[in-house]
Amino acid sequence: MVKESRADKDFQEEKFFYSDLYNYSSKLTEGEKEVLAELEEVLKNDLHPVLVKHWHDATFPLEEVQKILDLNLMDDPRLLEGREDGYISQLFRGFRSYTIAKTDPVLGTFYTQNGGLYHECVRLGGSEEQVAELMPGVRSFDNWGALCMTEPDHGSDVAGGMATTATRDGDTWTLNGHKKWVGGASIADMLAIFARDTEDGQVKMFYIPRETEGVETFVTPEKAFFRSMPNAEIIMKDVKVPESQRAQKVNSWKDVAKILRNTRSDVAWLLAGATAGAFEAALKYTREREQFGKPIASFQLIQEKLARMAMNAQATLAFAYRLAEQQEEGIYKEEASSMAKLHNGLRARETAALAREVAGGNGLLLKYDIPRFFADIEGMYTYEGTHEVNSLIIGRYYTGIGAFI
Ligand SMILES: Cc1cc2nc3c(=O)[nH]c(=O)nc-3n(C[C@H](O)[C@H](O)[C@H](O)COP(=O)(O)OP(=O)(O)OC[C@H]3O[C@@H](n4cnc5c(N)ncnc54)[C@H](O)[C@@H]3O)c2cc1C
Repeated sequence: MVKESRADKDFQEEKFFYSDLYNYSSKLTEGEKEVLAELEEVLKNDLHPVLVKHWHDATFPLEEVQKILDLNLMDDPRLLEGREDGYISQLFRGFRSYTIAKTDPVLGTFYTQNGGLYHECVRLGGSEEQVAELMPGVRSFDNWGALCMTEPDHGSDVAGGMATTATRDGDTWTLNGHKKWVGGASIADMLAIFARDTEDGQVKMFYIPRETEGVETFVTPEKAFFRSMPNAEIIMKDVKVPESQRAQKVNSWKDVAKILRNTRSDVAWLLAGATAGAFEAALKYTREREQFGKPIASFQLIQEKLARMAMNAQATLAFAYRLAEQQEEGIYKEEASSMAKLHNGLRARETAALAREVAGGNGLLLKYDIPRFFADIEGMYTYEGTHEVNSLIIGRYYTGIGAFI
């Protein structure tokens, strides 16, 4: 039996997001809310019904995802009203990731791969001409891209250890190397490849069409988590790239770090969305499931766990919200992004475990949504800097001592 709660009434009357007790989303403009409401409808009607099958079969819902892309979430005129720089607000950008990840972490990650990660590779890494050339395709998803950093032998130590090389001869570069884990690389139009310049030893970035001679991509098989995402490997053999495709503003790891602090804040939003999704799935389940003649939501021990999940959903959103507010003011701090990613990763993981706990045996069944969040949050816990690497960034900030090695 589902009983209406005070949260249900609040939600109908004033709040935009169910888990957002503190109502951070009240800071969105009316136009932004309208677009997010349209997104929620598409997620509910077109995407949610196919998620179990795709997760189970380890396939990506490319056809249905087109319905999200058709919403024009980077270009809708309602999002650009009053935006002098022509870019959507940081808050909308965050809530867009949050909304999609609340339905599905993989879909949120997919959208953010181009809409956040590759977007920042172009916005921050490209010259004015490169931004003018590439950004329209990013915003429309007609020429979308993926950030390609990690390698089979270099994950956490990729800054110093990157083995992919770029050698310049006149105006042509030759790239050789192997990338791993890149979300959507097998279906993306463009790859933002990071490679070490053999001359000065610095990391450079290149915008390369996936269908370039010498580039081969294949999906890493047999994943236990993140099953519906085509995480792909990229093998590059003597790939010829003109200097005009080298990101002109990326000349060292310092420039790469500027991109990463932004992409990490995207992940903080995705984790906040996944936390809210896991909580809401658990709440629904506990209000419907009866034991001892009552909904299990009426038991004190269950309510304690629901309260912790709700608190985590709110706290993860608070971290992400503050980051967006600062970024809107032009304040970007690596430590702040790392702390949000660190906190939200821990709380998301705890929430998914609690959600699974309150669902008992049914918490193992995909149709209740909970195991999808449980498994996919594990992938998010690792990407864009592990718990340990983000801890080391914060540790270095406060102690002044780098402890990576
Ligand atoms: C689902 C998913 C999606 C991804 N998407 C992308 C993508 O789109 N593009 C991309 O480039 N990459 C992507 N990645 C890669 C991701 O960023 C890496 O997995 C991550 O950086 C960790 O690298 P690794 O897996 O090689 O782990 P490793 O670096 O081998 O680390 C293994 C463990 O050792 C710990 N460790 C390592 N060094 C230290 C240290 N100095 N002190 C303490 N502990 C340490 C780590 O924290 C971790 O717990 C993705 C990964 C996943 C799982």
